[in-house]
Formats: sequence, C-alpha cells, structure tokens
Amino acid sequence: MSQPLIEVTNLKKYFPIKKGIFSRTVGHVKAVDGLDFTIFKGETLGLVGESGCGKSTTGRAILQLIDPTEGEVKYEGRNLVGMKTTELHKLRKDMQMVFQDPYASLDPRLTVGDIIAEPLEIHKIAQGSEKNRRIDELLNVVGLSSAHAKRYGHEFSGGQRQRIGIARALALNPKLIVADEPVSALDVSIQSQVINLLQDLQEQFDLTYLFIAHDLSVVKHISNRIGVMYLGRIVELADKTELFDTPMHPYTKALLSAVPNPNPLMKKERIVLRGDVPSPANPPAGCTFHPRCTDCMEICRTVKPIFKKVNGRYIACHLYE
Ligand code: SF4
Repeated sequence: MSQPLIEVTNLKKYFPIKKGIFSRTVGHVKAVDGLDFTIFKGETLGLVGESGCGKSTTGRAILQLIDPTEGEVKYEGRNLVGMKTTELHKLRKDMQMVFQDPYASLDPRLTVGDIIAEPLEIHKIAQGSEKNRRIDELLNVVGLSSAHAKRYGHEFSGGQRQRIGIARALALNPKLIVADEPVSALDVSIQSQVINLLQDLQEQFDLTYLFIAHDLSVVKHISNRIGVMYLGRIVELADKTELFDTPMHPYTKALLSAVPNPNPLMKKERIVLRGDVPSPANPPAGCTFHPRCTDCMEICRTVKPIFKKVNGRYIACHLYE
C-alpha cells in the first residue's frame, strides 16, 4: 500500500435543528457521526450506502466545503480542520470535486471556456494566451474540442456537461478528486464512458479518488477499496474483491444481496431489510442498524460497536468481537 494522502479521524458533522421565533437549537441531525479511514495515494476509495447515509456530507467535510463539527482531516500529514483560510486556499488546488448534477453544477451565464478558466484565475495559475492554451488542453483531455470553449453549458448533453465538470476539476492539477455521484444523473450508456474517462485520467495524472455512489456495480468497477456507510458511520471497509466475495457486516450482506447477478443460473438469496433507515436526528441507541438487523443480539441495543480491524478489513459489528 502506498503513502496516505488523506487521514480522517473521528470526523463528525452535526447540523443543528432550529425551531421557534428565536431559532433555538432543539437537536442535531447527525449526518456524519465518527468516521475513521485513510485514502492512500493513487487509489480509488469507494463510499456506498443508501441516500441520506452521509456520503456526500463526508466528501464535503473532507474538502472543508462545510466545517466539520469534530475530528481531524489530515492532507499529507497536515490537519485541514481549523486551518487558516489563506493556508487552506493554497491547498485547495490539490483537492477538487466533481459534482453529481452536471446540469446544476455549471453556471448558465458562463461559456465553457470561462467555467474552466475560473479556477485558473482564482489561483492565478495562468493568464492570456497561456490560459487559453490550458483550456484547449483540458477540453481535449476530457474528449471535447477547443471549439466547445465558446459555447454554453445548456448546449451540451449530460455526459458532455460532466466532462466539462471534470475538465474544471483537473484545471489546477489536483492530487485528490472527490467525485460525488458523478454518473448517477447520466444515462446508463453514458455512465460507462465517464467512468472509463475517470480511470484513464487517474492513470495519466496520478490522481487519487474518493468515489461516492449508491450504485454498487459502478463502485465495484472503479474502486480499489470500498467503505459501506450506514447512518453517518462506516460499518465495513475492505478491498473490493473481499467485500463482494465475502461480505461480513449484516448491512453489507443485505446491500450486496440486492445487486443483480449477470449469470441467471447462479441463484442468490435476497436479504430484505425490515423498515426504513431511522432518522439521523434521532438514531437508535447501540448499533444504529439493530432495528433492521436479523442477527441483532442484546448487546447491540445498548452498546455501540467499535470500528476495528478484523481479518484484514475494518468492521463495526458485535458479531466479530
Ligand atoms: Fe447486527 Fe449487532 Fe452487528 Fe449491529 S452490531 S450489525 S445489530 S449483529
């Protein structure tokens, strides 16, 4: 395994719930509730889980687009949480984001050239003809042409818009890209093109990805390791082959049982989870998965399982203590 690029320790993000005319805080939505993991240089770490489990909040908290409530996010050994704005600004060019919605993430008033030029101007990387050369280069890298620079976002298809978003993210030669559901708004036929492009770019520019998605097949295709999130916590983190071949956490088993099998002769038992995901404003005591878990034991109702290493992977479950 290579060097750590990002080290996350006890990361939490709670959003206050305000009520009344004085906007009193009456509780908190625990979107991210104590994450510990590392992203190694050059790898793709996939993050999966149902909607509302805190995947996107995790990505934003790592990039400091929202302030974490607690915990540390170290980038090459330097803690980003609480870092001075000027210092953070310098590091921002190393860490970029590709957003989920290629329709909403491009400013409709700007041409594609202006959109890609924005980060170059903010960070004073290139001006004049050098800037234009860089825009052309980036458009070519993502499979578009220089002629596209003068056009507006609405003139492009979803897949092309996501390519523009990727070109913008690459403009500053980042080391880390957080891709937040980058293909979930695209047609299936276009999804594989964008995934292949991301893989090619990773090799070409030595990129590290945090790839957030709810589609397990997509995450399996692109990731080296996968973390499974449930209600603000990672419940299992493992090498992708190990995770898919021998899932250990009851939630991972249930999620994987729902992935369609391409071989119709191989029957697999579908595990249907009881009930809905509980509210992150009022998560269950003990293991937050216990109301839906078929293996639930007495201890699970009161004691929160510790996220620790078991047989080469990380898992939070009393079954393995
Ligand atoms: Fe199920 Fe208990 Fe494991 Fe939670 S800790 S997943 S309730 S067995």
